Amino acid sequence: MILIKNAWLITLNFEEGRQVIRDGALIIEDNLIKAVGQTTDLVDQYDYSEVLDAQGRIVMPGLINSHMHLYSTFARGLALKRPPGDFRQILERLWWRLDKQLTEEDIYYSALIPLIDSIRYGTTTLIDHHASPYAVQGSLGILAEAVEQLGIRACLAYEVSDRDGQEITQLGIKENVEFIRACRQRDDDLINGLFGLHASLTLSDATLEACGEAVAGLDTGFHIHTAEGIQDVEDSLQRSGLRVVERLDKFGVWNEKSIAAHCVQITQEEMDILKARGTAIVHNPESNMGNAVGCADVTTMLNKGLLVGLGTDGFTSDMFESIKAANVLHKHEQGNPSASWTEVPEMVFTNNRLIVGKYFSRPVGQLKVGSYADLIILDYDPPTPLTDSTYYSHLLFGVSGGRVVTTIVNGKILMKDREIRGIDLEKVHAYSRKLADKLWQRF
Ligand SMILES: [Zn+2]
Repeated sequence: MILIKNAWLITLNFEEGRQVIRDGALIIEDNLIKAVGQTTDLVDQYDYSEVLDAQGRIVMPGLINSHMHLYSTFARGLALKRPPGDFRQILERLWWRLDKQLTEEDIYYSALIPLIDSIRYGTTTLIDHHASPYAVQGSLGILAEAVEQLGIRACLAYEVSDRDGQEITQLGIKENVEFIRACRQRDDDLINGLFGLHASLTLSDATLEACGEAVAGLDTGFHIHTAEGIQDVEDSLQRSGLRVVERLDKFGVWNEKSIAAHCVQITQEEMDILKARGTAIVHNPESNMGNAVGCADVTTMLNKGLLVGLGTDGFTSDMFESIKAANVLHKHEQGNPSASWTEVPEMVFTNNRLIVGKYFSRPVGQLKVGSYADLIILDYDPPTPLTDSTYYSHLLFGVSGGRVVTTIVNGKILMKDREIRGIDLEKVHAYSRKLADKLWQRF
């Protein structure tokens, strides 16, 4: 058992009322939170073998990144010969060229780097979407190996696409099915799988049908980029006369475990379809701004009762950055400085937890008894009162990923006092640079 004491606890346990507990403490037994309360009460009550003294700093649940691309690492610093002029060109000139070059070793190392950064910046669960068309078979297993080595919680998927030919499409389908089946054999509840699809614009009717058949009986959902740019909408209208969400609905893509990432270009009618199917949406503010695709209307989505979470889309591993970007994007977009005060915390602190809850058997994202012990300690001494009504403002304006000093996942300390355990960081970074350099020469 581990005791964490002398903490400002931010519980995010909205159901039970109290968000901030001063002089708080909690007990971790194996991989679960066993008790949450006051330090004075818990110190004498339990027989713990390890004590972490938070020394008056914040302890809160680890953050969740609901849409991520671990494979995007080697794009950092990669020079494009022709700068992209729109979203489709970003895909064609960068991502669809980069993913073709990924070898098995590249997949492993390009995943280790953002996984390390996730631990460093306080993300304890991520939902990934992977592509490596010339190394499809076993690619999710390689990612799982990296995830396991670092000890984070993750849900993985391979993005099926027609863009590299039928043989690779079939390999993608097989990879998803085999990985999802393999996850069912695991007994640790740390890694799960979803069926990945790239986007409507690279999927034929025949492939969508084949994917629908492949998931029969698997009790899983699809994770797919949805109307991320206007190009996806134009393509869908041309192919089918239907908008993206409508077209994919015909093939049974939307169910309660499915994730529609982005949804920048969807209508209210399309929102209603996703709502009726129980499908979650993931908003990626930095990526949408960076790719200049527009701003998803998350205010309307949330008002309609849709489950909208927050992700980084590979732009960063620091979810605190995404919180800041989402906060300013919607104020800017709506011309309203009062916009997004409730929407952003709802996405990141409530909805991300509910989305992840669909793929793991116990809850994460709250400091409460019975939740998985996935939590972080922040080096932050609040300079203004920290209360139930002010904690979000502290996290938004006072905290970044660099404040995280300790990260615990599944009851295991992955980073303590900024030292990440079980991995030689210098060696990993040096080897990653070497692999990236080789990839850039092939690019
Ligand atoms: Zn994405």
